[in-house]
Amino acid sequence: MTEVVATDISTRGAPPVGDVLLDVRNLKTYFKVLDGVVPAVDGISFSLRRGQTLGIVGESGSGKSVTALTIMRLLDIPPASIDPESEVWFDGQEILSMKMDVMRKLRGKDMAMIFQEPLTSLNPVFTVGDQIAEQVKLHLRVSNKAAWDRAAESLQLVGIPSPERRVKQYPHEMSGGMRQRVMIAMALSCEPKLIIADEPTTALDVTIQAQILELLKSVQQRTGSALMLITHDLGVVAEMVDNVIVMYTGEVVEQGTVLDVLTEPRTPYTMGLLESIPSVEKRGGRLSAIKGVVPSPFNLPPACRFEPRCPYAWDRCHSVAPQLYSVGTGGQRSRCHLHTPEGAGRLSAALEQHRVALNVGRSVPTEGR
Ligand code: SF4
Repeated sequence: MTEVVATDISTRGAPPVGDVLLDVRNLKTYFKVLDGVVPAVDGISFSLRRGQTLGIVGESGSGKSVTALTIMRLLDIPPASIDPESEVWFDGQEILSMKMDVMRKLRGKDMAMIFQEPLTSLNPVFTVGDQIAEQVKLHLRVSNKAAWDRAAESLQLVGIPSPERRVKQYPHEMSGGMRQRVMIAMALSCEPKLIIADEPTTALDVTIQAQILELLKSVQQRTGSALMLITHDLGVVAEMVDNVIVMYTGEVVEQGTVLDVLTEPRTPYTMGLLESIPSVEKRGGRLSAIKGVVPSPFNLPPACRFEPRCPYAWDRCHSVAPQLYSVGTGGQRSRCHLHTPEGAGRLSAALEQHRVALNVGRSVPTEGR
């Protein structure tokens, strides 16, 4: 199991060392809207090594997709703005300060993104072959024929049968699962070093979901690409990733190896997410849910942003913003005051309650229901 790389503030302005491919440092993305400024991503830092998979999870509105779009520099500025102190290092280059024409050359070639809804991401008036071949020609400067051959090869790589025929089809002639395969084929066509997949299976039914995830895994193993997988599905995270980041209201609230975070969660928010996963064992019992809703970005709680929803909150949570505390020995970090000496008693209660919540689900009798 690999170690989560925590960004060291002393490395500011310098490229990351070792085999780190993507190094995000204190990233802050804001949106100016009529009612004020929304901090969509509020000071997050993480790293991804070459060939590894990082999962980013959280409820809607937690800042996952904005993080991805900021890294890809796909946001309109304005209304979005990125804090000038933020840094994103990709393959040894700082890309937030990069000229847009240089960035465009990088995007699609070395870093590619797979979007949630392929029907809105693919152009309906061009065949899928046209769309893949155009990207290949743009980045690899090859002939039309070579680009079309590459498009057919990419479709074959993602398991689309009769690729020579399929390249001539339009997106509306394909099923949802097939279109998502086309999106993956397009992302892979230039053999990128980084693939960012934003909820790539959410719009698909479960059997196709499993096929697409399996496909992403096998293609990643074959090409050695790093994968940043954005999802709200902790089952997908358990299957796919090496390390995981849990986001809430634009902040990282927990990060660590997938094993640590899923089996030993250290914030009440992550515990709540895990407890709310429906399962066969919980059949007939009450589904647990995190009470309340994500707060409005215009009215965030003054200290811990999870405090109004947290069953373990006390005075300190309302007055002092928690930092990301190191917990355990495997690089796991938790933004929660339970990891201060004052919170020790509450931490034990929270861990015990979490164990009970998971086990209660498993022991619910189902006879006669
Ligand atoms: Fe709950 Fe306090 Fe931890 Fe926030 S800091 S998650 S309110 S215990």
